[in-house]
Amino acid sequence: MVFGPVPSRRLGMSLGINTIPYKNCSYSCVYCQLGPTRNIQIHRGYFYDLKELVEEVRKKLHSLSVRGVRVDYLTLVTDGEPTLDKGLGRTIEALKQFGIKIAVLTNGSLLGLGEVQKDLMSADLVSIKVDALSEDVWKSINRPHPNIDHINILLGILDFSKNFSACLLTETMLIESMNDDYAEIIKIAAFLQKLNPNHSYITLPLRPPAETGIKSPSSSFQKAVLDIFHDAHLPAELLNVPEGNNFPVGDQFEENVLSIVSVHPMREETLRKLANRSGYNWQGIERMVKTRKLHKKVYNQETYYSRY
Ligand code: SF4
Repeated sequence: MVFGPVPSRRLGMSLGINTIPYKNCSYSCVYCQLGPTRNIQIHRGYFYDLKELVEEVRKKLHSLSVRGVRVDYLTLVTDGEPTLDKGLGRTIEALKQFGIKIAVLTNGSLLGLGEVQKDLMSADLVSIKVDALSEDVWKSINRPHPNIDHINILLGILDFSKNFSACLLTETMLIESMNDDYAEIIKIAAFLQKLNPNHSYITLPLRPPAETGIKSPSSSFQKAVLDIFHDAHLPAELLNVPEGNNFPVGDQFEENVLSIVSVHPMREETLRKLANRSGYNWQGIERMVKTRKLHKKVYNQETYYSRY
């Protein structure tokens, strides 16, 4: 349930908390780095024991503090959609005892529900995905559960943004031949402007996507999107480079790596550096690939490791 910490471009050193069974999501995004959604659903449920989770976080924070590793955020980032957890609100409240800021990274698809908005209200940071404004583009990129209503999501996101007083981020993934259209980007920027976010991130499919043929648009288009966002007075940033290599050494190398890559596939260079610093032999990684614990994949001339 607890993994990392992971060096994050947006959150500093982020200790991940995964509270959803593998690949349960309301979307099946074409660019998802975790592969296709296994269980596409919109019904919220309880998936874990809160006491056990809090104890796991306590132990992890203790072992990190012994090693002098600081944690900037406890981040509910799952291998699915974190708002599917009906216990999200009580989890955020329980995690506050550690005195570390709490972040939730959501696709926003359930924000039409008052109970989801209420659960997220006590987070210190919420990041919401907005990849499209037009329904057909949204359907082609995010491939949502058939019973989700797009207008209801947008209204829910808008409503949430009006009442949420902590840090609000947005994320927009650019995909060639899907949302690389100026009219669509102008509509997205106009919508994001209404949310008054603290920061709007423009992201690219840098890690292996669920579907083949998913590519970033040209760098001139990426730059144009940044200009359009800035013209809309959005504090925007283009994230066009992979994450850093600064993963702290964990207690048990294999367990640590498997829990990280189940949410966050790692580049070979990053994994090699972590293995070196942990005193772990690379042959162990090759064994994990052979025994199908780790999945090795080449994308954009880079080798990545994810969970099977
Ligand atoms: S990218 Fe996020 S929202 Fe999209 S399918 Fe993957 S886990 Fe779900």
